[in-house]
Amino acid sequence: MLEYQEKTVQEVAVCTCDRCERRMTPDDDFNWHEKLSIAYRGGFGSIFGDGCNISVDLCQQCVKETLGTWLRITPGDD
Ligand SMILES: [Zn+2]
Repeated sequence: MLEYQEKTVQEVAVCTCDRCERRMTPDDDFNWHEKLSIAYRGGFGSIFGDGCNISVDLCQQCVKETLGTWLRITPGDD
């Protein structure tokens, strides 16, 4: 027999682009699904500082404007 307990789950409701401050919500389907969030912890020797947390949230327009030169974009397999 399985027994259950109540559990509170949080989900992201709004993502604000750190560059242009565009607010993206799940209702804004295209921008919501195309946003880019990066979050990681730098290791020993990181140029940001040993063990620092690094994160950024960008809308798709800012991803293109900041990283576009280096993005490898190929057609999907559909
Ligand atoms: Zn943006």
